[in-house]
Amino acid sequence: MSYDPSNIFAKILRGEIPCKKVYEDDFALAFNDIHPQAPTHILVIPKGPYTTYDDFIASADDAEIAGFQRALAKTINDANVVADGYRLISNNGVNAHQEVPHYHVHILAGRPLGVLVEKA
Ligand code: 5GP
Repeated sequence: MSYDPSNIFAKILRGEIPCKKVYEDDFALAFNDIHPQAPTHILVIPKGPYTTYDDFIASADDAEIAGFQRALAKTINDANVVADGYRLISNNGVNAHQEVPHYHVHILAGRPLGVLVEKA
């Protein structure tokens, strides 16, 4: 899948539509999900134009990959979710029901989160 610069997260990165920002640095932007599935539901996205996790790892340089992981960890720590636990989810591609084709990680926390995946 080639990167579509008109996707909603690209527009958020360009400041064309607003978001509730949680954290930002040179490598990542973290913001609240517009339809939260848990009391804490934050999306963390790299600043570069990557569609999926595999695209990110294949195409980003080492500084971007490390910077993104550090930003994700800082966002988790700042959200005060470590003590009670949290879940990271990244949907990639059709079978995972990825809606927005810009690589992102969901941070979910604040309630018991149930089973990992539903039975088919
Ligand atoms: P995906 O299914 O691609 O992993 O998840 C995309 C997520 O983006 C969904 O949880 C959805 O609620 C969220 N989302 C979609 N559009 C917007 C938006 O305009 N702003 C914010 N903050 N979140 C969005």
